[in-house]
Amino acid sequence: MGGYFDRLETVSREERRAEQDRKIAGMVELGYEKSSRVKRILDERGLTPADVQGVDDLVKLPVISRERVVALQAQQPPYGGLEDPGAPVERIFTSPGPVYEPHLGSSDPLWARGYKAAGFGPGDVVLNAFSYHMVAAGLTFHGGLTRVGATVVPSGASSAQLQVQLIRDLHVTGYTGTPSFLMAIIEKAGELGFDFARDFSLRRASFVAEPLQPSLRQRFETEFLIDTYQMYGATEVGDVAYECSEKQGWHLCEEVIVEIVDPATGAPVAAGELGEVVVTRLNPVFFLLRFGTGDLSSLVEAPCPCGRTSRRLSGIAGRVGDAVKVRGMFVAPSQVRRVAESFPGLAVELVVTRKGHRDFLLARLDPRGGEKDLKGLKARFEKVFQETCTVRVDEVEFALPGSLAPDAKPLRDEREWK
Ligand SMILES: [Zn+2]
Repeated sequence: MGGYFDRLETVSREERRAEQDRKIAGMVELGYEKSSRVKRILDERGLTPADVQGVDDLVKLPVISRERVVALQAQQPPYGGLEDPGAPVERIFTSPGPVYEPHLGSSDPLWARGYKAAGFGPGDVVLNAFSYHMVAAGLTFHGGLTRVGATVVPSGASSAQLQVQLIRDLHVTGYTGTPSFLMAIIEKAGELGFDFARDFSLRRASFVAEPLQPSLRQRFETEFLIDTYQMYGATEVGDVAYECSEKQGWHLCEEVIVEIVDPATGAPVAAGELGEVVVTRLNPVFFLLRFGTGDLSSLVEAPCPCGRTSRRLSGIAGRVGDAVKVRGMFVAPSQVRRVAESFPGLAVELVVTRKGHRDFLLARLDPRGGEKDLKGLKARFEKVFQETCTVRVDEVEFALPGSLAPDAKPLRDEREWK
């Protein structure tokens, strides 16, 4: 079990909030002084740094999407004027766009919280299967692993066969990379005649950059005896959240301010509702305030049994563009799939229309002949749907058995706006 990285993870929420308010006010003040872009953003809105006293005032500033960062950097190379031009930059990463990201050797424990919570530490030999070339991934994950005392094998994008050889020869105990690549390595080991769980000592994996399907997680944990964890972040803002051993939501990192907002307005949604993840990384060099990730999630307010006091992301429900807003609340295709998965064999299609001045949500269910008690199924479906998606379905209709493909698009928006 991973311990805490530092005392910040268990401070009271009031103490954390006061500290965040102080830091965000300081960052805006410094940004106004050092960054030509931040000065312009505030000036254009008739704001002064004194207007941003804390987290709640961030809503006065615009959300900046990845596309906007690309455009700003093209206008004003290399960093879009978002930086302190006098700051000592240790290295510069790029990501597709292109986006240029200045990094400095700082005290920021980038990614270390997630690795600590996943149980990595001294004595571990960890395969880092992320690219070290140009992009931030390889080197920043490497840094997080060394911060918690682990030994890193920078295996990067080497072939699955070479990774198997490293796992065997170096007695590798852990893996960080994508879940699909770990499965490819396991399959390669099988082809080479190894029994992964018996012959190797890799018992821990921390995944990032790709969703971990529950069925794949179960295979890793039960078939190959690998304890799995997930982390979440974005190249522009670094690590944002991570799973603890409870594996019920992802704790927010202490170095970021996370808002869940309505992507159309940038205003925070109500507690527990789905919205876009907007992140500000507290730092004195790159003043990317309110970065819009384009990812959908919601915040879990309830305390976590692990003892960390931070709020948690419920997981990533998809991309903003894929979601449909129903009666003011977002519903994502991934949520509908999750509901369907609670009913073995059930195919679900959701259709949103307008009745009068109100959104109307029709659920079409196809039990494919596997369920006889349709009335009971309807009641259970309505309950699970509301628990998962927050909104209620208005009508449930049963489709002809076999008429809904299991992999059909689960969410159709047929509203016409006249
Ligand atoms: Zn926890």
